[in-house]
Amino acid sequence: MLRLHDTATGKVRELALREPGKVSMYVCGPTVYDNPHIGHGRQTLVYDVLRKYLEWTGIEVRHVSNITDVDDNIIQRAEREGRAEADVAAEFEAVWWDAMDRLGVSRPTHAPHATEYVADMVAMVEELAARGLAYEAADGIYLEVDKVDGYGLLALQPLDSLRSGARVEAVLDKRSPLDFVLWKKAKPGEPAWDSPWGPGRPGWHTECVVMSLDLLGEGFDIHSGGMDLRFPHHENERAQAVALGKEFARHWMHHAFVEVAGEKMSKSLGNFTTLLDLLDRVDRRAYRLLVLQSHYRSPMEVTEDTAGRAATSLARLDEFARRTASLGGEADETLLAQFRDAMEDDLDTPRATALLFTAVRDANTVLDGGDGARAASLAAAVRSMCRALGLELASGTDEVDPDTQALVDRRDTARQSKDWAAADAARDRLVAQGWLVEDTPAGTRVRRA
Ligand SMILES: [Zn+2]
Repeated sequence: MLRLHDTATGKVRELALREPGKVSMYVCGPTVYDNPHIGHGRQTLVYDVLRKYLEWTGIEVRHVSNITDVDDNIIQRAEREGRAEADVAAEFEAVWWDAMDRLGVSRPTHAPHATEYVADMVAMVEELAARGLAYEAADGIYLEVDKVDGYGLLALQPLDSLRSGARVEAVLDKRSPLDFVLWKKAKPGEPAWDSPWGPGRPGWHTECVVMSLDLLGEGFDIHSGGMDLRFPHHENERAQAVALGKEFARHWMHHAFVEVAGEKMSKSLGNFTTLLDLLDRVDRRAYRLLVLQSHYRSPMEVTEDTAGRAATSLARLDEFARRTASLGGEADETLLAQFRDAMEDDLDTPRATALLFTAVRDANTVLDGGDGARAASLAAAVRSMCRALGLELASGTDEVDPDTQALVDRRDTARQSKDWAAADAARDRLVAQGWLVEDTPAGTRVRRA
């Protein structure tokens, strides 16, 4: 069974499932007030690889990831642009899903909106208040963290240092600097729902705990997100569950960030600004490969340079897929066992992808030497591993229909006349129709994704 690093214990340990053969996973989703950045791409790819790998091993995955559609940032943007909050949230949610589709990640089994759960959130805050664990301050209802057993587990540092380090809050009637808001009272003009404490909206930490418990139930398997969510967000979610005597996540998984190169470097290398910018300029599989070649708990750098190297590696994979497309046969079991060992060792995708490329090299060598049977079993294993990682291979066996050919020609003409906007538009349409678009010295080449 999969062994994963667990933030709560600080150890790599076996994922002890609540129910055999099933994994329930909550990934903290986006607050929809701006375009997704490159780090969002890494996040969704990391958990997409985890999910696809588990599914490849025969495990059923229930993957919940929320949309935070009420939030200070959304309110501020709406105010700045003279629009309704719901309008801002709807716009950037649409951008989010579009980017995720283009990235090739599976949509979550459920993607609840925070605003659909407000009544449940009010009920949870009421119960915390009834138990004497929450109190009313001038601007909202707060959880009194000193009354929660073991508060600070995911902070990984003593509470005293957190208390003294907590920034000076505008709210003077908080009992401790670490107490956090469960319910925010609305200021005039802000989106608001009725509650026993007057009109207001839920706090972010309350949103995720309510939605995860509702859709996955107590004691669900994995709660995950970026390292920055560990504290206070995840700890505060956990604290509410503990305060209510509910069993929360069994395993905490956190991934590292994408490192952004310095300003000077970013200009000279033409680095990517947003996820959309990256998807406009790079084969989506190259970004997935780049993510796979970094361990999820290590920072990674995304530049044109690293993406370019990944694209070269992909070209080798595609070439191999074309070369071996007609070979049938059983996958090499020894190789697949090594692959599983790597993946189950805290999702060691750098080791798993290294195995993949070694297998490609070995298979090419035996094929050159005329051993078709051996090459076929290695090729079948390569195809299987790629499926497990969500890496699509372009075997180039698909026919290009006339409409598609017309788009390809339009793109080539646009490129020749350096009309980049038209060339990009043609490429976007091809990608939207499920083609992988490749630039070659002979012009645009398309293959089925
Ligand atoms: Zn969350």
